[in-house]
Amino acid sequence: MNERKNTKLIDRHDRRLNYLRISVTDRCNLRCTYCVPPDRIPWLSHAEILRYEEILRIVRVGVDLGITKIRVTGGEPLVRKGVIEFLESLSEIPGISELTLTTNGVYLEEHAERIRAAGIRRLNISLDTLRPEKFARITGSDVYDRVWQGIESAVQQGFDPIKINVVALRGMNDDELVDFSRLTLRYPYHVRFIEHMPIGKSRVTATPPLLVPEIKARIRPLGELLPVEKNADDGPAERFRFKGAPGEIGFISALSHHFCSSCNRLRLTASGQLRPCLLSDRQLDLKALMRAGCDDRQLAQIFQQAVRNKPSDHNLAVNDPTGVSCQMSSIGG
Ligand code: SAM
Repeated sequence: MNERKNTKLIDRHDRRLNYLRISVTDRCNLRCTYCVPPDRIPWLSHAEILRYEEILRIVRVGVDLGITKIRVTGGEPLVRKGVIEFLESLSEIPGISELTLTTNGVYLEEHAERIRAAGIRRLNISLDTLRPEKFARITGSDVYDRVWQGIESAVQQGFDPIKINVVALRGMNDDELVDFSRLTLRYPYHVRFIEHMPIGKSRVTATPPLLVPEIKARIRPLGELLPVEKNADDGPAERFRFKGAPGEIGFISALSHHFCSSCNRLRLTASGQLRPCLLSDRQLDLKALMRAGCDDRQLAQIFQQAVRNKPSDHNLAVNDPTGVSCQMSSIGG
């Protein structure tokens, strides 16, 4: 099947948008310093967040237009009641070739089996330190062991790959870059170092920012990073492995090397806003339209409008915290 022929979501820069990331809740059980703002923002009310049926309807419309890949994220997706049944319903929608989940792993142990049974094969688990006391300082919760139990349950359930997302921050975890990288020498984990994006109100300002070239230099003593061939669905990560290692190292250079020209993503926030770009506050209100009684054709038009509005490039610069006011915790990353 020529997927390109079957999509109506190609933008002005010839990018084929086939990937929808869905935040199912703005709530999170952790309060990571770099993600959640200093002043507690009130959670959205029950009525403000999209109901599961509404999300499923949006997904069906998106899939008809050419979306093939879905990631469920949050807030923390596993804190929302009914999320496993929602994943099961998502996986039954014909036309989705890849369904993935991003989680902080705290509730993974109890849910891993059902998540796997729902047809999810790939998991991203966020973990920014390998030291329990530091974990508590970063996240505000002393639950490091539960995250590791979650990771171990994911291994037992056969998730593949298991990606460990590490937001690299100077002064926070730059002393652990080698330890994280060393994990890939023993285990089949894909450790992904992500440059911190200075958006929303954050409790951290990492100056100067810790960028991918420096991370690569700092893990160099472990060996040469051998490039892993990319496949079409890899997204923006640059992938490597050390010789003979079962795991991989990935780098997401949001600041030091824009990957906008290959961006294939749209985002749906928990409050029902369709965002063409993570790093732009421009968004379209699908929830209001649906609750006013629109039909699927009108929903499809909003998707196409979002595609037309997708910026060619973001202007987030290394030393310039920009005008993105929305919090990562409410967009979903
Ligand atoms: N609660 C889930 C989790 O922790 O994975 C999903 C939501 S979280 C917002 C998604 C990802 O965004 C996490 O890997 C998190 O580390 C990352 N993230 C949050 N704030 C970020 C920032 N300012 N820059 C880069 N990544 C960020």
